[in-house]
Amino acid sequence: MSERTVQTANDVPGAPRPHVVVLGGGFGGLGAARKLKGSDVSITLVDRHNYHTFQPLLYQVATDLLEPSAVGHPLRDLFHEQPNVRVREEVVSGIDLDGREVQLEDAAPLAYDHLVLALGARVEFFGVDSAGEHGFPMYTLADAVRLKDHLLERWEAADKDPALVADGALNVVVVGGGPTGIESAGALAELYRSNFAQDFPEIAPDQARIILVEAGPALMSMFKADIRTYTQRELEKRGVEVLLGEVVASVDPTRVTLKSGTVLDAHTLVWGAGLRANPVVESLGVDLQHGHRLPVEPDLSVAGHPEVYAVGDIAWITDAKTSTVLPQLGSVALQAGEHVGENIARVVAGKDAEPFRYHDKGTMATIGRGTAVIQTHGGRTMKGKTAFLAWGAVHLALLSTGEDRAKALVDWTWAGFTHERPARITVRADQD
Ligand SMILES: Cc1cc2nc3c(=O)[nH]c(=O)nc-3n(C[C@H](O)[C@H](O)[C@H](O)COP(=O)(O)OP(=O)(O)OC[C@H]3O[C@@H](n4cnc5c(N)ncnc54)[C@H](O)[C@@H]3O)c2cc1C
Repeated sequence: MSERTVQTANDVPGAPRPHVVVLGGGFGGLGAARKLKGSDVSITLVDRHNYHTFQPLLYQVATDLLEPSAVGHPLRDLFHEQPNVRVREEVVSGIDLDGREVQLEDAAPLAYDHLVLALGARVEFFGVDSAGEHGFPMYTLADAVRLKDHLLERWEAADKDPALVADGALNVVVVGGGPTGIESAGALAELYRSNFAQDFPEIAPDQARIILVEAGPALMSMFKADIRTYTQRELEKRGVEVLLGEVVASVDPTRVTLKSGTVLDAHTLVWGAGLRANPVVESLGVDLQHGHRLPVEPDLSVAGHPEVYAVGDIAWITDAKTSTVLPQLGSVALQAGEHVGENIARVVAGKDAEPFRYHDKGTMATIGRGTAVIQTHGGRTMKGKTAFLAWGAVHLALLSTGEDRAKALVDWTWAGFTHERPARITVRADQD
């Protein structure tokens, strides 16, 4: 039998100490690792990327408002001041709960004493495979950059060959009337009607359509009626066509076919319609909830495994106050991650883990510059400029460093005043 190598805390500088393995460097994973700063543990933080992605601003990368580096922050940089953390760029392929090991795609398994599962989710195409093949999801930084490059390429192509305009080269179908779809459609409308309209004066603005397709009877279905109506009106004011009660049946590179039989000429489909928890949860042998999310106990541990916690988009967390399931939001992930970090510190110090309590910041979406909508878990709503300012404050608090916050504040303020989108260039690494 061949000898099997397992990496343990002893492989980590400063060991032997309890080994905490944090899977995922998103909001949840960062929250957990940071709260263990003063604890006598060795932490290994594993992520497939060497950067943290600030997902709430992906649409600003896709629409040229922000550079990718404003939305992705190097993970190693975030832990310069925390010597008990080691960052590893690896792909997690499975977890053996009984053996207390994490399997990695290209390295020996990683043994743990405490595990934090914060691997986020994946885009769900609800069986429309062609959307996965030809569409542009909006979940990762690479997705946002791909969409940005594709849009710019289509406009440049249409500038060279005006016949492409009639073929739908500039039309975009955005799928999903929730926050991701709304923000994408609103931001695209601003890019199209302001900057691209000036960049490409030969192309009449009404020849470039943005069509938002939602299967349900209203946009923002989880919000109250006043927000739903306001959102639709604001989008339409910006030139977005809203199609309700329509479902995408198939997609090819230049056409989107709806179940009703309508065919939309569009060379771009942006998919903002659904999520499914990271497939790694399927290796756990645990019963999963809606969206394949992993159910957790009140202290955020996995039933039967007090040493394993799950937080963020991967987790099915029931709110102790309202008995409802918490939404897949950055603030939920960050607070849950921080709570888990604190719980591990308690357990390592010989104390009991405590139940999680969520401080609700509300669910929100920007519709365009200076316009947003917010609804709290308790049902309070806010819209317009006040909501936009509140959105800014909540998202500044989520940014990972003070430097990021300052950079974002300068970029947003500058863009607000000048309407400039500095990232409207195409750089190809394979060209001179
Ligand atoms: C377009 C968009 C807009 C959003 N807007 C908002 C908003 O305005 N406000 C808000 O509060 N929330 C918003 N959200 C939701 C919010 O971003 C998520 O809820 C949050 O990022 C979840 O955090 P997480 O730590 O669970 O997962 P993530 O932030 O997704 O982090 C998971 C990490 O795991 C890594 N990973 C995944 N698989 C593997 C693997 N196999 N091996 C190794 N590493 C892996 C990933 O690289 C990633 O870094 C938005 C989401 C999207 C997609």
